[in-house]
Amino acid sequence: MIFDKKKDGEITGTGHDIMLPQESQRFPCHQCHNVYCYQSSLARHIKFECGKVAQIQCPFCSYRSRYRADMTKHIRFKHRIPEEEVKLLKLLYI
Ligand SMILES: [Zn+2]
Ligand SMILES: [Zn+2]
Repeated sequence: MIFDKKKDGEITGTGHDIMLPQESQRFPCHQCHNVYCYQSSLARHIKFECGKVAQIQCPFCSYRSRYRADMTKHIRFKHRIPEEEVKLLKLLYI
């Protein structure tokens, strides 16, 4: 008779309650899914970031994007500006 060796390892090991320091101290934003470790960070987020939809305005036309990479691509190809120069542009977050 062959014993099922899998059963040997079935020592239920869920009793390991690892103490995660400050794990419960999280400050989630209720408007989006961002979570912050500090209340000050959350406050800053709500004041400056959240709800602002992080729209980047193209400095050359009315195109907008939420993503910097997307905007970089737009400026490079639509306005024929090399990547190095795009990086120098301070893309405005509205
Ligand atoms: Zn938010
Ligand atoms: Zn543009």
